[in-house]
Amino acid sequence: MRKKIVAGNWKMNLDKNQALALTNDLVDTLCDLPEHQRVMVCPPSIHLSSVVEVASGSKGLEVGGQNMHQARSGAYTGEISGAMLKSYGVNSVLLGHSERRAYFHEDNSLLREKVDAALAMGIEVIYCFGEILEERENETHFDVVSSQLQEALFHLEASQWNRVVLAYEPVWAIGTGRTASPEQAQEMHAHIRSVLTDTYGTECADGVSILYGGSVKPDNAKEIFSQPDVDGGLIGGASLKTEDFMAIVAAMS
Ligand code: PEP
Repeated sequence: MRKKIVAGNWKMNLDKNQALALTNDLVDTLCDLPEHQRVMVCPPSIHLSSVVEVASGSKGLEVGGQNMHQARSGAYTGEISGAMLKSYGVNSVLLGHSERRAYFHEDNSLLREKVDAALAMGIEVIYCFGEILEERENETHFDVVSSQLQEALFHLEASQWNRVVLAYEPVWAIGTGRTASPEQAQEMHAHIRSVLTDTYGTECADGVSILYGGSVKPDNAKEIFSQPDVDGGLIGGASLKTEDFMAIVAAMS
């Protein structure tokens, strides 16, 4: 059975003390999770080591990276590799976040390489994708999303999908306060699952967690998460406050 997941993307926020204070608060607040639920935070890479250490005393708080390079090592100043993530006990990574696509020119073909590098290291991929406003308005959003999946992920074997989580994030809803309606989220998540089914079959498609991201807050999380094909959320702004993040975690139940 696929799991429900709430993952916090801290982006480039919080200094060392703030990151540790937030992690300690989350560890103190997080209760035992049911078998089918997961909670994760994705701090800036400079904080990963200390956040992993604090989270190791928790009831299941997982820690993921926000990005990784496709090479194992080498002359890539400023980058971090999957091997480095692994060596700090980080077993998941966000790939393809819209900010990486927009500001760092990451495209589907580069992301395909990153996906392969992460999976080869035994790192779970949380693959982010979604259409920009113009694509929704000119009604190409289903095609855009299908291409983002096909070009970066559909070379994988069915057996590799147990290490892949999808995070559909319409770009027009990220950090804007404008969220997709529960119906819009469900419509796209059902499309994503049907594209997966066409390529990999029902059993594989039914096992993949598909998260929604884009201005999820405590007051809208429950309704979005209750859609049949929405398996939790990737949370930006609201993951920086313990109270808000934990309210969103509670909305998984
Ligand atoms: C994100 O950055 O992945 C995100 C969903 O941000 P926000 O929740 O702030 O819209």
